[in-house]
Amino acid sequence: MNTSIIRITPENHDEYINKTDRPIVILYFSEFCVHCKRAIRSLFVMSQSMDGILNFGMCQVDGLDDFRLEKGIINLPSICVWQNGEKLEFQEGFDEIYGIGNALKATLVPNPNLRYVYADNAATTKISKTALEAFVNCSNEYFGNPSGNYETGKKAKSVIRNAKRTIASCLGLKNGKVIFTSGGTEADNMAICSALDFGRETGRKHVIVSSIEHHAVLNAIEKYASDDFRITVLPVSSGGYVNASDVRESICEDTCLVSVMLANNEVGTIQPIKTIGALCKKNDILFHVDAVQAAGHIPVAFSECNIDYLAISAHKFNGPKGVGALLVNAGKPISRIIAGGHQEYGFRAGTENVPGIGSMAAALHDSCKGMKENAARIRQLKELLVEGLCTIPDVRINNTSQNVLPGILSVSIKGVNAKALSYVLDEAEGVTVSTGAACTSMESNLSHVLLAMKMKEDRITSTVRISLGTNNDEEDIQYLISAFERSIRYLRKK
Ligand code: PLP
Repeated sequence: MNTSIIRITPENHDEYINKTDRPIVILYFSEFCVHCKRAIRSLFVMSQSMDGILNFGMCQVDGLDDFRLEKGIINLPSICVWQNGEKLEFQEGFDEIYGIGNALKATLVPNPNLRYVYADNAATTKISKTALEAFVNCSNEYFGNPSGNYETGKKAKSVIRNAKRTIASCLGLKNGKVIFTSGGTEADNMAICSALDFGRETGRKHVIVSSIEHHAVLNAIEKYASDDFRITVLPVSSGGYVNASDVRESICEDTCLVSVMLANNEVGTIQPIKTIGALCKKNDILFHVDAVQAAGHIPVAFSECNIDYLAISAHKFNGPKGVGALLVNAGKPISRIIAGGHQEYGFRAGTENVPGIGSMAAALHDSCKGMKENAARIRQLKELLVEGLCTIPDVRINNTSQNVLPGILSVSIKGVNAKALSYVLDEAEGVTVSTGAACTSMESNLSHVLLAMKMKEDRITSTVRISLGTNNDEEDIQYLISAFERSIRYLRKK
């Protein structure tokens, strides 16, 4: 095939997009891949035929010979246009021009009885009334700088002190520190950085990490581990579980850190943290647990599970965005990741986000108080949803075990592109679901979690994540089932 790199501008847009079936070549620059240890750059060729259908093909930049042109539809979340190795400016409206929208919009009829159903609670949750009130109250009443040695400052400081106590108590931290951060990513980074600094100082340069960790962990290890570190990436079962005996067998004399999440963000699987924690304690190894998806949804027992670092993020349990915390076991190493003032014991400088912190503590307290009831109700909703979805031909549930988070459901729909499905659900039905995480494999931009679960490529590209939360009710579920039915029927017909 003849290809050339063309920059699409408003001036030449009509020539290349609307009139012909000409190929357009763009470079798609995806995230850094921790497995292949480099950024993946793929050549993306796309054309649009007169009937509005997008044709596209994708291949690695280094493998042009393997080029395949496929028919399909795709959402382009982060396209940059490159020309002669030079990055061109991001085109405003680029998504509009090339996105899935053009291909489907022409024939998509919005549901006249549309109901807005938010089912992407693993991505983020709506702030609860309690958390919002706490946020407003802290902003109004406790606006002083907590470092100020005067009344308003002391009042603000008391919010932080109380929040630390609440959070420690909710998560079973008996003896240690709660350090506030900007969210889960920063908390994970702080934990990894601290443990690896310690490993470097003590000559213990081996790390064990599960293959299904969030990029906040995988990329942090990539960043903080120098070349002389060895990384063991643990496999998972086809159900998405780490096997504690794999951890045991991977432990070496120089292992400084084990990092395994409490619950996975794509399939919700709950990992054997207690057994792994005991192994780490026995072998004097630091143990980091990403509890971003778990906190507020299932019980967390920090001290009982011998955890050394635990990351949480408020917006995953109906708290505000942009605030999280790292819980650190007493006496364990902490590196200063943000230099500046003395805040957060000198490890994380910067004037504290008092409203965010107060609101996060209120949200976590609320979530933990109502956890049993909420979890049971959400699990029941999920069962109803599974029952309904399974009546649609060729729909498969990927996380059937009971040992998963109450709200997360991973569903594969044979022959249906998940990105197309989530687009149709959103545009025509008012339903928000997710297609899961992007790139981590050398060969593709498929979910690294589903790949680790040894799922086939076609099944991965047809997988959506539905994540229910406290705001969903039975009517949402009935609507979700019928919205899935309609959307799947529509896409299969296409
Ligand atoms: N860890 C897990 C398991 C997550 O699901 C997420 C967010 O989706 C993060 C870390 C990052 O959290 P934040 O968005 O607060 O930075």
